Amino acid sequence: MHKNSMGIIAKGAKCNVSDCDNDGFRSLNTKKIEESGIRVSSSGKKAALCKEHYKEWKKETKEDRSLDRARFDIY
Ligand SMILES: [Zn+2]
Repeated sequence: MHKNSMGIIAKGAKCNVSDCDNDGFRSLNTKKIEESGIRVSSSGKKAALCKEHYKEWKKETKEDRSLDRARFDIY
């Protein structure tokens, strides 16, 4: 039996990104996803992302964070 360590993806949940039909990998705050520029079609507070879109989202947020970090590195 496969156990989802996050425990937030319902069985059979699909990626909420428009035009994506992959299985859900992680569930994230819908706002957080949209802030990164990824469009999701979710009516709820949370949306599911497939592995590929999760990677994409992570990359986007990482870039934002490294910009913030760069500012601190000046000191
Ligand atoms: Zn997807």
